[in-house]
Amino acid sequence: MKDDSCIFCKIANGEIPSATVYEDEDFRVILDMGPASKGHALLLPKEHFKDLCELDPEVAKKVLPVCAKVGAAMKKSLGCEGFNIVQNNGEAAGQTVFHFHVHIIPRYAGGPKIAAWTPGSETPEVLAKTAEQIRAAL
Ligand code: AMP
Ligand code: ZN
Repeated sequence: MKDDSCIFCKIANGEIPSATVYEDEDFRVILDMGPASKGHALLLPKEHFKDLCELDPEVAKKVLPVCAKVGAAMKKSLGCEGFNIVQNNGEAAGQTVFHFHVHIIPRYAGGPKIAAWTPGSETPEVLAKTAEQIRAAL
């Protein structure tokens, strides 16, 4: 299903033009208009899903193979040495467009720097308790 008020639905289905790098029956991959690095791309399903928790599992299983294909093409064509897959769910996680999407971000030697977290530390007891809390909700 498409959502008529969703800009990524319109882009994914070709109603709004985009710099498209890949398209198949399920997805369109476009360049992000505010790139973190040269070639930063977004994988958009053609159907509307708000986030990962709502994504159809049949569509979900096709996501990583497309990311791998595009990432490999970025390495060949742009000379990046690697790439990050980033996927935000919910406002607190930085999601600003509420149509599931995956960022494919080329990484080049020498930058640009892309924010990463500072590792904390935790006791085995707290790790075990936290794991139990999550397991109980599965
Ligand atoms: P997120 O913060 O994970 O929701 O990412 C949304 C991303 O979509 C941002 O990186 C924006 O730069 C990008 N974006 C928003 N609107 C457009 C658009 N019309 N065309 C291309 N990229 C867009
Ligand atoms: Zn949508």
